[in-house]
Amino acid sequence: RIIDAGTASPNEEAIERALRPKYLSEYVGQHKTREQLEIFIAAAKKRHEALDHTLLFGPPGLGKTTLAHIIAREMGVNLRQTSGPVLERAGDLAAILTNLEANDVLFIDEIHRMSPVVEEILYPALEDYQIDILIGEGPAARSVKLDLQPFTLIGATTRAGMLTNPLRDRFGVVARLEFYDIDDLTRIVARSAMLLKAPIVEDGAREIARRARGTPRIANRLLRRVRDYAEVKGTGEITREMADAALKMLDVDPVGFDLMDRKLLEAVLFKFSGGPVGIANLAAAIGEEIDTIEDVLEPYLIQQGYLQRTPRGRIATTATYRHFGVTVPSSDPT
Ligand code: ADP
Repeated sequence: RIIDAGTASPNEEAIERALRPKYLSEYVGQHKTREQLEIFIAAAKKRHEALDHTLLFGPPGLGKTTLAHIIAREMGVNLRQTSGPVLERAGDLAAILTNLEANDVLFIDEIHRMSPVVEEILYPALEDYQIDILIGEGPAARSVKLDLQPFTLIGATTRAGMLTNPLRDRFGVVARLEFYDIDDLTRIVARSAMLLKAPIVEDGAREIARRARGTPRIANRLLRRVRDYAEVKGTGEITREMADAALKMLDVDPVGFDLMDRKLLEAVLFKFSGGPVGIANLAAAIGEEIDTIEDVLEPYLIQQGYLQRTPRGRIATTATYRHFGVTVPSSDPT
């Protein structure tokens, strides 16, 4: 894919870090989550306690990692970052937990991909700030309880449904991040342009925002590509026309769908006659992983009303037919 919300090169990651807001007041949108966190953070600070364990869920690029860093900064504590797949053995997590200082934040990205043995260690840590570790081997092995400092776990996942129930139950705060509306994304693009010292007009920022799939990470990436284009083809100023021409070149269509979005929707429309089509068949038809379809591609298409999930499979909507200039079949249930 040309614009991939999931992965980034090391250079892109450095730029992404530089564009990250540092305080809640700079964090655009997500009003409900922000308001809740403001209160919980203030209360925890007043009591000199760790913030409750917090679960952040939503599609990639919506600001989960950014929010975890902001929470640690607002709390005035350190942040330790790891991810579910990286924690292979119980000892990996035990080593991190025993090194935390009072009220620190432990951020575990992709927490749904943690192995069951690691998850077992986590339960008593979350509940009683204690871990049981096994010392020695064979008959001489014995279990030792270690006390931990109070800490806050912040877990991030693309889908809350993928967590085991006992793990989900241990989060006191659960926040679902939503796709951003165009006004919020316009503010994010304008702010990033300022940090990148790229001249931009309001209409230019709005055009990029309109085509960013509701996702700040994509908005920031499109901004950088449009900036390149404006520097080479124009005076450097990002106008609406410049943004439009650059995004056309990048195969981002007027509603913000990229090549993969169109491939998926076209498959539903033309290979499966508008559906219903099961996710496995759809994945095979477009050569994409089921997880990528469910986590990255589908959520935005569903939110925008271009795809419906039914018990019998995915189906195209009237909007999908219109988008591709195809006559809506009269038997279409939507
Ligand atoms: P996630 O962890 O959900 O995949 P990130 O926290 O890495 O997403 O965010 C991706 C990028 O989008 C960050 O570099 C950040 O600059 C930007 N971003 C995300 N949320 C916001 C926001 N609310 N306000 C401003 N920028 C944001």
